[in-house]
Amino acid sequence: MTKIAFLSAEFRPLAKIGGLADVAEELPRALLRLGLDVRLFMPCYSHINLPELGAEAVAEIPVQRGDQTVQAVFYSANVYDIPTYFVDGPALQQAPEVYPGQPLEGERFLFFAIAVVNYFNQSGWVPDVMHANDWHTAASVPYLSALKEQQKGVEGWELQKTGTLLTIHNLPYMGVGSEPAVRAYRIPRVECDFLPDWAREIPLPMGISLADRINTVSPSYAKEIQTKEYGSGLDGLLSSRSDALSGILNGIDPASWDPAADTDLVVNFSRDHLEERVKGKQALLEETGLEPDVTIPLLGMVTRLDIQKGVDITLDALESMLEANDQPVSWKFILLGTGDFHLESRCADFSARYPDRIKAVLKYDAGLASRIYAGSDMILVPSRYEPCGLAQLIAMRYGAIPVVRATGGLKDSVPPYSSDGSGIGFLFEDLTADAFRDTLYRALDAYGDQGLWKSLQLRAMAADYSWKRSAEQYRDLYLRIVADRASS
Ligand code: ADP
Repeated sequence: MTKIAFLSAEFRPLAKIGGLADVAEELPRALLRLGLDVRLFMPCYSHINLPELGAEAVAEIPVQRGDQTVQAVFYSANVYDIPTYFVDGPALQQAPEVYPGQPLEGERFLFFAIAVVNYFNQSGWVPDVMHANDWHTAASVPYLSALKEQQKGVEGWELQKTGTLLTIHNLPYMGVGSEPAVRAYRIPRVECDFLPDWAREIPLPMGISLADRINTVSPSYAKEIQTKEYGSGLDGLLSSRSDALSGILNGIDPASWDPAADTDLVVNFSRDHLEERVKGKQALLEETGLEPDVTIPLLGMVTRLDIQKGVDITLDALESMLEANDQPVSWKFILLGTGDFHLESRCADFSARYPDRIKAVLKYDAGLASRIYAGSDMILVPSRYEPCGLAQLIAMRYGAIPVVRATGGLKDSVPPYSSDGSGIGFLFEDLTADAFRDTLYRALDAYGDQGLWKSLQLRAMAADYSWKRSAEQYRDLYLRIVADRASS
């Protein structure tokens, strides 16, 4: 049975910040169903209640930091049917947050990455592929490479055959500020022609240079990051590795995201009972204090408030629509999000100025998120860049039509509606409020034809974005890595 070690800083719901947490729960489960021996390794944050999870200590593994030896304690439990290992140690106890900022992040994630590789070295469970995700776990790749170099020619050293895959979920977050930790944990600086000097001790670029294969979470994003515009200064390195770089679109778990069974909804519905959906819209309007007139189109947005997500463009586009007198139809807007302080205050201010049209809920609330997907007519995702994006996938499953920027995973997952009757969503190319506004007008116009709108909803809800297809592609990629290692 092929053995896969899946390394992630997030895991829903134990440590959920962004989409990585959803992937870390849903992909390993889909891979287990395909018959792979997948084990998940994550840091043991201080809020994780090990006794409640039934976790037991299984190993103490030494980690070298400078001249000191620090102990990593491994706890193991089956969490939501996934064999999971929690890695604890002093670096995890310094702050309660998942991401406490630098230099603590560098310390904890470097400690984690090294502890995990040392565990493989000592426990007898040697993965065929070590699958690192994002910068937080990427340092495991250069560390394993350095160990392989040290152990070259040593008979029977099992880790020599372990292959590596690094998945980039979000390129600009590359671990800048971790350089002192990289040095403290003695991971050698990576010397490679296409790696810029500034990036040689930063975890993600180090991992990109040395992983057997690299992938991103959509085919379009895999191409985009090889360009100057999206490459975050690493486009040269990524282009130099284009033979090893591919894209696999994320999925969603149809059982976790099911409007017919979602207990956070006031009213459940399905394709066969789409007429029930409007009751959820009414309840959502009441819950958020907007006038419960269900005939007016409702635009929704659920997002981290980050410049990446195009929240500023959304506010500009909607503001210009409110100011214009040529609105084809009225509409209302609900935003759920938290994050950047300036964006939060802009959203709060916008909502205060148009209290009967706009509602901004500035918090993290998974239940309300579900009700927004289920009750909005459209979900807006105007991202500057989008490695994959889950919001549009969940929206389609819940019968909300995506209005998205044609970039990365948004482009790969939302088939554009065309007047010949095909497609599902509304896409725009240019990163401007004007382009977004024009596309919103197009969507609002389509909403005016309720027969057409229903056909879009039915198509959206029937679209298959389950993990099975993505998991099969990951399995093929793992098998390719294993075959390449065997032949090298
Ligand atoms: P990213 O990972 O870049 O944040 P994704 O679209 O891939 O973006 O995933 C974000 C996930 O987090 C989605 O499932 C979205 O519904 C959820 N989410 C974002 N903000 C909130 C919030 N304030 N409350 C509840 N869920 C949220």
